[in-house]
Amino acid sequence: MLVGGLDDEGRPVVHLGTKGPLTQAVRDRIVRRMELPVPPLAKYDDLLMRIIFGHELGHVLQADPEFENLFGTIDRRTYIPEDNYLAYLYSDKEMNADYIAACLVSSTDLGQKLAIPAPKFPPLQWRNWAVTHH
Ligand SMILES: [Zn+2]
Repeated sequence: MLVGGLDDEGRPVVHLGTKGPLTQAVRDRIVRRMELPVPPLAKYDDLLMRIIFGHELGHVLQADPEFENLFGTIDRRTYIPEDNYLAYLYSDKEMNADYIAACLVSSTDLGQKLAIPAPKFPPLQWRNWAVTHH
């Protein structure tokens, strides 16, 4: 598993090799935010892994100041899901990373084959996408 982003002091942080189960809550969040067909597709796990990779890549992109111009100001506070799940779920960092994942996955062969919708909002309006994908 890859987890990346900035810590509370603004330092880049990447964790590689952490292993953990994909919880039903995470699966539900991905299905809801990416507008995936329900019931699950045949290539569901493959698709989920691409979305998760896109999401974590989103955190890496957020850590690059160049991308702040692309997405506008992102609230960089980090919330721990076990401490405050809703604050974590609706934080700028998580919603923006999901927007980035939606952009990436919708443009892949698999995403197009499965008709995963590309966000209709440009990067500076990623919050508009987030409002309709919560
Ligand atoms: Zn995240």
